[in-house]
Amino acid sequence: MNVTSPLMPDLDEFSHMLKELWESRWITNNGRFHQQLEEALRKYLKVPYISLFTNGTLPLLTALQALRVSGEVITTPYSFVATTHSIWWNGLKPVFVDIDPSNCGMDPDRIEAAITPRTTAIMPVHCYGKPCDIVRIQQIADRYGLKVIYDAAHCFGVEVNGKSILEYGDISTLSFHATKVYNTVEGGAMVVHDATMKQRIDYLKNFGFESETEVIAPGINSKMDEVRAIYGLLNLQLVDAAIEARHKVATRYRETLRTVKGIRFFEDMPGVKHNYSYFPIFVNADEYGITRDELFFRLREHGIVGRRYFYPLISSFSTYRGLPSAATENLPNATRIANEVICLPIHHELTAEDVDRVLEIVVG
Ligand SMILES: *Cc1c(COP(=O)(O)O)cnc(C)c1O
Repeated sequence: MNVTSPLMPDLDEFSHMLKELWESRWITNNGRFHQQLEEALRKYLKVPYISLFTNGTLPLLTALQALRVSGEVITTPYSFVATTHSIWWNGLKPVFVDIDPSNCGMDPDRIEAAITPRTTAIMPVHCYGKPCDIVRIQQIADRYGLKVIYDAAHCFGVEVNGKSILEYGDISTLSFHATKVYNTVEGGAMVVHDATMKQRIDYLKNFGFESETEVIAPGINSKMDEVRAIYGLLNLQLVDAAIEARHKVATRYRETLRTVKGIRFFEDMPGVKHNYSYFPIFVNADEYGITRDELFFRLREHGIVGRRYFYPLISSFSTYRGLPSAATENLPNATRIANEVICLPIHHELTAEDVDRVLEIVVG
């Protein structure tokens, strides 16, 4: 049993639409399916402006370029490595701050101490699709004149009090990778707040071309092609049912895990529409009796593949471990959580019996 399984469209429907594409001969470069998917996602996600990308890493890289971020960027070590890599690839210095164990997002209490005269931006992550403390992060950003770029790779469809989580910060980015709740095989997007920025992003993701003969900025190539736009259009019809199936899995896990000593997990947050993209549990070895790794490998022996997201911390990889902010003493919560976490299998194809098989091992 795998931790996830990709949401995939019906093959006949996919072939049917591919036939149309074959006849049109327009297979990339802002074709009609690209435009259709952008508009469909804009509506589904309830956001004013969205731009499709070819994966979820390039919008992070491009956001830092578009906002002309320089110097130092405050970020979290508790994420997928692409978050910090995007800062590094822009020639910027990542500065790690610790996380709040209640949502695994950046702890707002730690941000101000990390600000220096060179700081120009904050890049938090809504980890597992759980909203960061968006209000306090924005207050700090406003006070110091910093940009906020949210890595919202886990946030497809997440809303706070009826408003998309993607509306917060200066820019939010999404990943549509095969392992995410909604996928276009590989893919991603950037959400911005005004038409001027959307236009700028659309130039930047197409080499900076403004017209056939004008290049207005050093852009990159990160356009989504028509084949994946079709795949994405079909998957969009399936995603609500997939999220509902994930919700059932999460509910079944929670009912039993509430009775298990030494296992912590997240409940739904009031006012938040969740997408159940991950189901992390946190193992307190003293109370539970065995360590996270012992449970992790016990699950493996029974053919159940969990993932230790996010372990190791990004700050412990060779590129970053020499940074002063990467010191373990600076990151006590992230260090502890990284040693406690296992993401249990959760996806649209899991049955109640599958969930019970996982629970049997965890309950012991
Ligand atoms: C998946 C992911 C990314 C990168 O997305 P890709 O589409 O794989 O490039 C970035 N940040 C986080 C937090 C992710 O989980």
